[in-house]
Amino acid sequence: MDNEKLGSILPDTLHLKRKNLVIFDLDDTLIHTRMLYNIAYMNAGKALIDAVGTYAPLGSDMIKRVETINAKLQSVMNYSAERFPLSWVLLYREICSEYNLPVYEEAVESIRYEASSFQRGPFEVIDGVNNVVSTLDQRPDVDMMILTAGDFPLQRKKVNEAQLSTYFTEGVNFMIADSTKDAILDALVKRNKDNHPLVGKVIMVGDSLYSDIRPAKKAGAMTIRIPTPGHWAHDDAEVEPDYTISDMTKLLSVLEHIIPTPNEESCVQK
Ligand SMILES: [Mg+2]
Repeated sequence: MDNEKLGSILPDTLHLKRKNLVIFDLDDTLIHTRMLYNIAYMNAGKALIDAVGTYAPLGSDMIKRVETINAKLQSVMNYSAERFPLSWVLLYREICSEYNLPVYEEAVESIRYEASSFQRGPFEVIDGVNNVVSTLDQRPDVDMMILTAGDFPLQRKKVNEAQLSTYFTEGVNFMIADSTKDAILDALVKRNKDNHPLVGKVIMVGDSLYSDIRPAKKAGAMTIRIPTPGHWAHDDAEVEPDYTISDMTKLLSVLEHIIPTPNEESCVQK
């Protein structure tokens, strides 16, 4: 990719001047998200059982079928927040057609509503996040940013409601990708190398091997993974993070190892 094209991926408003850049993934790195999906799965499943009774597929079959539909919709709906609720509605219609059951609009709405609950929150930061971001915010040699992929209005809402907007402003140090993070990470690492040759470090912090660690390593960034309990199949990738830590409270000590805080003296001398 040529330089002109790389430049255009990053907005002109982006404000990242310091030699070190710590990039955070949002979902299940800074805020709890998977838990909200889990609740949506359970409640949408219950609404489906209410609608079709004994014709509902059993537990894991129901999840498998809805995930198959969800995966098919990805090519047309990408990261739209409506994809998951629509998958449940389509499963309801599929079952109705299999068993010649009437489709009730009320049932459609109830299933859609329950499957949409992950969009309504509450969006809360994970333990340790407030300490990490308020500490890094004080460092003169570190910029932080959020790089997330997903539905634009929903990702904005999450950042606001979790009160991360104190530290992160869209277009300045918060970007939402409409597909994978590869191109943006390439551009960020290249920009850091141009501005701080040899001394700059870009560090990606995320939970997903596929969405965070893979593209960051490919771009030449350092990687720190904080795995989330539970598992999304689409998070797998054959890639080794540089560091793996059990939770957010361990992050500052790892960062201190990679990018030690400059001592007062060296700041004065400068
Ligand atoms: Mg994530």
